[in-house]
Amino acid sequence: MDCLFCKIAAGQIPARKLYEDDQVVAFHDIGPQAPVHFLVIPKKHIPTLNDLTEDDKALTGHMLHTAQRLAKEQGCDEGFRVVMNCNELGGQTVFHIHMHVLGQRALHWPPG
Ligand code: C5P
Repeated sequence: MDCLFCKIAAGQIPARKLYEDDQVVAFHDIGPQAPVHFLVIPKKHIPTLNDLTEDDKALTGHMLHTAQRLAKEQGCDEGFRVVMNCNELGGQTVFHIHMHVLGQRALHWPPG
């Protein structure tokens, strides 16, 4: 499958990995928008949030738990943000779901 994040998950494209297990991979974003900016992706190819099914509940929970644990490890104890963009209108550019985790700067609301 011609998917950038599937290739990162499979180790076919290099990434600065923070964590990996049988279900997820976390790596530093190539274009960081904050001093800490990493992505948590499932190894399973799911194009957008609209494609989630009941079967993915445990997987997405594991992604969120991984995001929280790694944010703490990256020194974001005082606060951080988790973002998931869905489809072009939501700002999604890579069509394999991913959680952005941003921290170590003041983050404003609403986002652009
Ligand atoms: O939410 P969205 O789909 O726009 O985010 C994709 C993210 O993937 C971007 O923040 C981009 O910098 C990141 N990226 C990456 N490594 C790549 C290609 C894209 O970290 N090789």
